[in-house]
Amino acid sequence: MFSKILIANRGEIACRVAATARRLGVRTVAVFSDADAHARHVSLCDEAVRLGPAPARDSYLRGERIVEIARALGAEAIHPGYGFLSENEDFAAACAKAGIAFIGPPPAAIRAMGSKSEAKTLMEKAGVPLVPGYHGAAQDPALLQREADRIGYPVLIKASAGGGGKGMRVVRESGEFAAALASCRREAAASFGDERVLVEKYLERPRHIEIQVFCDAHGGAVYLFERDCSVQRRHQKVLEEAPAPGMTPQRRQAMGEAAVAAARAVGYVGAGTVEFIATSDINTSAGHFYFMEMNTRLQVEHPVTEMITGHDLVEWQLRVACGEALPATQEQLQIHGHAIEARIYAENPDKGFLPAIGRLSHMALPAAVEFQRNADGAAFHDPAPVRIDAGVRAGDAISPHYDPMIAKLIVWGATREQALARMRGALAETHIVGLANNVDFLGRLVANHSFAIAHLDTGLIERERAALFAPEDRLPNEFLALACARVLADEAAAVGADPWSGRNGWRLNGSYTRELTFKSERGVHDVRIEYARDGYHFDHGGLRTLLVIQPPPAGAAPSRLTLRLADRLLQADVVRAVDPVGDELHVFLDGRHCVLTRIDVIAHAGEADAVEGRLSAPMPGKVVAVHAARGARVARGAALLVMEAMKMEHTIVAPADGTVDEVLFGVGEQVAEGAALVQFTPAA
Ligand code: ADP
Ligand code: ADP
Ligand code: MG
Repeated sequence: MFSKILIANRGEIACRVAATARRLGVRTVAVFSDADAHARHVSLCDEAVRLGPAPARDSYLRGERIVEIARALGAEAIHPGYGFLSENEDFAAACAKAGIAFIGPPPAAIRAMGSKSEAKTLMEKAGVPLVPGYHGAAQDPALLQREADRIGYPVLIKASAGGGGKGMRVVRESGEFAAALASCRREAAASFGDERVLVEKYLERPRHIEIQVFCDAHGGAVYLFERDCSVQRRHQKVLEEAPAPGMTPQRRQAMGEAAVAAARAVGYVGAGTVEFIATSDINTSAGHFYFMEMNTRLQVEHPVTEMITGHDLVEWQLRVACGEALPATQEQLQIHGHAIEARIYAENPDKGFLPAIGRLSHMALPAAVEFQRNADGAAFHDPAPVRIDAGVRAGDAISPHYDPMIAKLIVWGATREQALARMRGALAETHIVGLANNVDFLGRLVANHSFAIAHLDTGLIERERAALFAPEDRLPNEFLALACARVLADEAAAVGADPWSGRNGWRLNGSYTRELTFKSERGVHDVRIEYARDGYHFDHGGLRTLLVIQPPPAGAAPSRLTLRLADRLLQADVVRAVDPVGDELHVFLDGRHCVLTRIDVIAHAGEADAVEGRLSAPMPGKVVAVHAARGARVARGAALLVMEAMKMEHTIVAPADGTVDEVLFGVGEQVAEGAALVQFTPAA
């Protein structure tokens, strides 16, 4: 085994590799960009070296520098993780030249699978089934059009060099082909510097089923079964599971053997994934599966395979890279139970899944292990039911420079039903405040009937749109009651009173009523709270009832609230995020997250001095509109300036009533993160 390796990546995958290295007694070197100087992956490694500024091309993509660091620090191998340099044949070759083991396949195998077109030509020769289509070298538009007409519509145009769903265009009739081709080429040239395309039959409602393969340098090759990654948005995976529901043993073996044949055809060594697209009747003998591409690295969703096989795939990678034979034979590998992974992203599902950035001001996760090996020889031990692979901690930021993934939540169950139930529970305990994220969306997705009965295909999210995105028309009173309870409990704590003792000094004799006003996505809500002898009375939307805040159980998180509302006992977490603009109450109850912003005119008048007279850019971006002029007197909440970053618009608003002293940037100007945009004096 190696004594020291360098991990040429960041985030959760760097942490994941470090965990196995530590278990095996292998020392680790982390590399980091300026944005990651205090990142979790740096803290988990034994040594760490700075690469350069935040942008990937100045840091994590600097292959030569990374090889130099490995050499200088005496690392014998480099693990590239996924993304960045993992599928870069020049980097793999540079490692070899420097006498450092690249923990991945040989450069020739990366090259062979790097172009989807050339890979398909090779696979055809190896007898692996392909989607009917054209993947030749000639790229004349008229010829491509003829090929598309021959294949028959709908067809899919893909960038040969593609990845991450970029450049793909579905064409439903001949007349639309030319325009779609031009647009795919533009995107391919911009994203990959290569405008070559292939055209294939577009399958309606297919399933994405991929096979994990592993090869050693001695001719050994096995498949570690399949993963179903059909639940996708924008051709990118959201939920992954293993095994694929409904898979028959015969079909599993046929797909596994086809995948091994694909790997052997390119002289593969190490971990790889052969992605197949399958017709939705794949559970029956009438179904078909076709080779789509091979990813020559460890995949984001590898944990579900680890959960059901009990093997540590990173350990396998390290063993194979230092010349050992595969740790298990095909006959020894078995499937135990069912695993599901959910990718938690900083993104906004309601705005077309646009990526978001920001600080994780609060992050509470379910009780979980990090990763676990549960097979020794042939014996399998049930894994811990919940595993979390995360690259960030509470307080860390998701920056615009890298992938917006926050964490992966992986669950195991003896059956799919049990895994699904655990996933619902785990998502309900995942509370994130500070940036837009898909946790609620994932909760609705795993509760969706189609998903529950494994009616899986790549169109699931679109087909279930009405259920998955349905705005609820009314805000349940429970959420308002919990928000009120948090305000009341905090106020009592601030004056040193005990909010749950029946006799607070500050409580007036007799009764007294006040109004608490909140804003939510569904409008403005005025709640009347009456201070009465027997507790608070909550009055909103036709419900008038007793509200009693109960003492928190010993050891409970500070966000925890236990409440009696009429006859119901509510247990929830309410996180208060106070910033210069608003007092936000994040209510997490039974897997739902509602944000209620308290509107309190009197309290906010005094808070204006919290704003240091300037308003700054939340992230690097471009100013796209300026609404305020120097000297303008504006009301709290007025839009002053709009900037665009990460394909989203961000409006900078007045934090209080006041005067605009200066607007420091004009339309079209680029601004750095933290740059002061507007100078502002709150009204006295
Ligand atoms: P998977 O099928 O495992 O999701 P993808 O091809 O979508 O694989 O990419 C894997 C991960 O690597 C994704 O999170 C993606 O955002 C990231 N990634 C892909 N290419 C790059 C790159 N050139 N630089 C940085 N990250 C990348
Ligand atoms: P990428 O390199 O972006 O991962 P893939 O070729 O793996 O590209 O395709 C990504 C996704 O696009 C697949 O998971 C599937 O949902 C969809 N897709 C790809 N090829 C087809 C096809 N021929 N018909 C229908 N959907 C397809
Ligand atoms: Mg793919």
